[in-house]
Amino acid sequence: MRVLLDIGHKYQNDIRNKGILYKGVYEADLVEEYYHKLQEKIIQSGEEIVTIKTDKNILNCSYEDRIKWANNNNIDLYISGHIKFNSNESDIVYCGGKKNFKIANLLKNIINQDKYIAVGKVVDIIKLSKNYDDYVPLDKLKCQNILFRPAFIDENKNGLLIIDKFFSDVVNILFEFITKIREEKYERN
Ligand SMILES: [Zn+2]
Repeated sequence: MRVLLDIGHKYQNDIRNKGILYKGVYEADLVEEYYHKLQEKIIQSGEEIVTIKTDKNILNCSYEDRIKWANNNNIDLYISGHIKFNSNESDIVYCGGKKNFKIANLLKNIINQDKYIAVGKVVDIIKLSKNYDDYVPLDKLKCQNILFRPAFIDENKNGLLIIDKFFSDVVNILFEFITKIREEKYERN
């Protein structure tokens, strides 16, 4: 199984769009960090999953070109990664079609488990439209795809910063998601 971990806002032609700035750190850099930890976890697990993360060499281009690249390079699953601040609700955005709705629902059920305390719950699954503020042209993709915007809860009830827990929750959520898609004998288009 080949998974493209696309870092939202990073390495695009338009470098003005770096996503949200949080305490001096750009969204894209935080997404890159959770993807990096996810890749380490996948390697340690020994699962037959190949991840390709947006990088300086092959995927420093527009979202359209990344999508073309994915269509030409046998990608099975495309995850557009973001982070949502100032909210208690995570977003899952899918583009039309049963298969993407199915995996969106799977991801929702994983996120909403009680053990993931540092990531906001998902209330609705959002259908992709050009009005969405983190629009990525996912509708051009042949493979299954999803836009994931986990809500970062800055402090828990006791006022403690839980950023480490947020990262480990996001990594575990994505790991569970990817391995479940693989177990369910995911078939490539
Ligand atoms: Zn974003």
